[in-house]
Amino acid sequence: MTDKTSTTDQYTFQDPVTRFPSISAPKQDQPEPGLDRDLEPQTDRGETSYRGTGRLKGRKALITGADSGIGAAVAIAFAREGADVALSYLPVEEPDAVEVARLIEESGQKAVKLPGDLTDAAFCRSLVNEAAEQLGGLDILVNNAGKQIAVERLEDLTDEQLDETFKTNIYSFFWITREALKHLKPGSSIVNSTSIQAYSPSSTLLDYASTKAAINNFTKGLAEQLAPKGIRVNAVAPGPIWTPLQVSDGQPKDKLPEFGKDTPLGRAGQPTELAPAYVFLASSESSYVVGETLNVNGGKPSP
Ligand code: NAD
Ligand code: MG
Repeated sequence: MTDKTSTTDQYTFQDPVTRFPSISAPKQDQPEPGLDRDLEPQTDRGETSYRGTGRLKGRKALITGADSGIGAAVAIAFAREGADVALSYLPVEEPDAVEVARLIEESGQKAVKLPGDLTDAAFCRSLVNEAAEQLGGLDILVNNAGKQIAVERLEDLTDEQLDETFKTNIYSFFWITREALKHLKPGSSIVNSTSIQAYSPSSTLLDYASTKAAINNFTKGLAEQLAPKGIRVNAVAPGPIWTPLQVSDGQPKDKLPEFGKDTPLGRAGQPTELAPAYVFLASSESSYVVGETLNVNGGKPSP
């Protein structure tokens, strides 16, 4: 997927239908949370194509789920735009995190690797403080980590999964953001990863989709609360994006070859196609955009 000799970037005039191939991913399985390293086909996280123009110069960002998929594409883009980045991820994802940290450093920025489990409130608190200490401050927070496990019938959804999905996808957003408020100054920005699932839930993702609706609500309420303090809160709602989340039981296996083909663009999105939305919401150019959800979903109607 990643064309290492690519000379185009996100500003090149191109047809969005064919900018990336319409993949028919082979059926595959990875233990949760899955690695970009082992994904087939590989994804495009902007390694060779994302071109920065100084939009986040001197900024300090903490990104959760930054080792792979959308979070990795955002981390690479932020670094190319001039930000130092702290990366949160699970310890088993070290190989992916090492690669993203390498790309950040190659862009001339600082990368701080902070592995740990976000279902643990105490870890969430220490993560924020460690990031702020090692970066020398904090002015961008991207709450992006997520757990998605497809279950066909509600009767088969275990209490354990329910608990882990809610802790990862929404409790951690509360824990991390609350701690981050000790560091964020006026001008700072918070961007939450929600999903089209917040308003068009799949029948197999009841727990996951519920947390995404909660994130939308949290985003709007918190945006109102923090706007007078000069801290903006917004969300990005991706549609079907090819990432390790989908092959570690995020989708029923027989659906993988068709993943993303039901969008008006006719293909799944690549992680790098999300990055400009996060850059826009993180940077000062979106100073009057507050409590907004930016849909990046290949054309699916959204409220
Ligand atoms: P991904 O697997 O690359 O990223 C998810 C990350 O969440 C993992 O890399 C992992 O580091 C992190 N994570 C999960 N559980 C954790 C835990 N207990 N502790 C610490 N970190 C944990 O997949 P992605 O698709 O890039 O997902 C990023 C975000 O985008 C998620 O919030 C997901 O819900 C959202 N999203 C994805 C899609 C899609 O189609 N891929 C669509 C809509 C929304
Ligand atoms: Mg990962």
